[in-house]
Amino acid sequence: MEFMNYEDLWFWEGDITGNYSVRSGYRRLGGDLAPSSPVWSRLWNLKIPPNWKNFMWRALSNILPTLDNLVKKRVDIVNVCPACGLVEENVMHVLCSCPFASLIWNCSQLPFPQFNGENFLFWAELWLGGVSALDCESKGKMCGLLHGIWSARNSAVWSNVLPTPTALCSRLLSSWAAWKVHGAGTGESQRAPVMHANNDQRGVACYVDAAFHDSNRQPTYGFMVLEEDGSYIAAANGPLVCPYDPVMAEAMAVTEALSWLKNNGYW
Ligand SMILES: [Zn+2]
Repeated sequence: MEFMNYEDLWFWEGDITGNYSVRSGYRRLGGDLAPSSPVWSRLWNLKIPPNWKNFMWRALSNILPTLDNLVKKRVDIVNVCPACGLVEENVMHVLCSCPFASLIWNCSQLPFPQFNGENFLFWAELWLGGVSALDCESKGKMCGLLHGIWSARNSAVWSNVLPTPTALCSRLLSSWAAWKVHGAGTGESQRAPVMHANNDQRGVACYVDAAFHDSNRQPTYGFMVLEEDGSYIAAANGPLVCPYDPVMAEAMAVTEALSWLKNNGYW
């Protein structure tokens, strides 16, 4: 019997080259639960106000504080839709099937894709996903309308007031028009604001990471802030509230770090 005379090698089985990369590590970590819906990339590429985008992401991830989600987190409340008072509230009901939401959709004259089930992500795939024939203008307004419906629902919860569908739709149109003039702008103005260190302002370096811990995959963030010369300023870590999605966790970890920098006068 003849043995091959090869030395042993380390081989990372998450990548066909055998070399480890952070990307392949995350893919491995995410496994089947990694976001595969075409909705995500479509959403990130939409030119809409950031708060609409953030809202859409929370709705699609089903992490809005709808009453059914609060009940799941053992908040002691009765789940009755605050807009119609007829049935239990979940994300699909509040944004689509609630009679109040239907009135707003009708009033907006935007396309209102039919839905069969109760899954908001599947419904959004119909109009926001890869096969949708809708133009970006319609998709943008639809995201704004959903955001408007959610804001109206919140005013019912907190102020006991529901705006009329007409008022809500006209507010949507003016927000959209204002965004197109001042917010979306040209490619130049869409760039993220950049911190320029000048003579009066010290620059700092901030290193951020997110991770999922243990078998229950608790998302956490960590960051470290250093002087330009590498000396230590601060570090922090803590839990995140986000779905099992590495890209989302990273984005939220960056948000935590930016909040800290802002609150501590570095921004
Ligand atoms: Zn309702």
